[in-house]
Amino acid sequence: PADPDFLRVSDLHAGYGQARVLQGLDFSVARGEVCAVLGPNGAGKTTTLRALCGMVRGRGSVTLDGTQLLGRSPEQAARLGVAHVPEGRGTFSDLTVEENLRVGAHLRTGVLRRGRSERAAVAADLERVYGHFPRLRQRARQTAGSLSGGEQQMLAIGRALMLRPALLLLDEPSLGLAPLVTRELFEIVRAVNEEERTTVVVVEQNAQLALDIAHRAHVLEAGRLVLSGPAAQIREDGQVAEVYLGVS
Ligand code: ATP
Repeated sequence: PADPDFLRVSDLHAGYGQARVLQGLDFSVARGEVCAVLGPNGAGKTTTLRALCGMVRGRGSVTLDGTQLLGRSPEQAARLGVAHVPEGRGTFSDLTVEENLRVGAHLRTGVLRRGRSERAAVAADLERVYGHFPRLRQRARQTAGSLSGGEQQMLAIGRALMLRPALLLLDEPSLGLAPLVTRELFEIVRAVNEEERTTVVVVEQNAQLALDIAHRAHVLEAGRLVLSGPAAQIREDGQVAEVYLGVS
């Protein structure tokens, strides 16, 4: 693919105080690709995403289209095009669906601009997001707190898309969702990737699901990558399925 090192992670170390979680990660994500990060509980998947979006401090190098991301605040990372959808979603439950989406747009511009061109841009982005998530359009005036779990996850992803991200980071989007809703959600992520060419890094416990939409995958164990390859190859590796993906 063109631009194979769009996201380049080199010798990434990160942790919390004394706890050293990531012990030197090296991987690249090509522009426009979906990359899955798999692995058992506590392997460091969430920490990896946090290091990419400025939520934990890292050592080494993480570049996006050549720009260094390490050492940036989450706000700076967002302005550089990194949108993070954390586990547990983090939408504002008392705000309506549309208000939540508008918050996403303000994160992009950094200020509450009220000019005509900004209003038009936000309206276009809302249309884009509603196009991907028809359910959110139906519920635009409902509070986020009144949505189902699946719809809240859609809202969290929709809000991230309001940033027009260059890089979308998804942490366990399937968590707590029924299989049918999860499938719908993943199909939407696939469509966003295909239609907008958004580069995606998705962390998932449900490896089968993630491998269905990913182009490449990395298996993380105890803070180190133990396996990397095309998603199809990882899916077909019987030993991998048994040992790392919890499938027998
Ligand atoms: P899970 O699927 O369980 O979330 P994970 O692969 O995402 O697993 P991380 O959440 O990155 O793993 O956690 C890696 C290690 O870091 C774990 O041992 C965890 O206990 C520890 N850890 C995570 N967050 C913190 C924190 N805020 N402070 C201290 N230690 C943490």
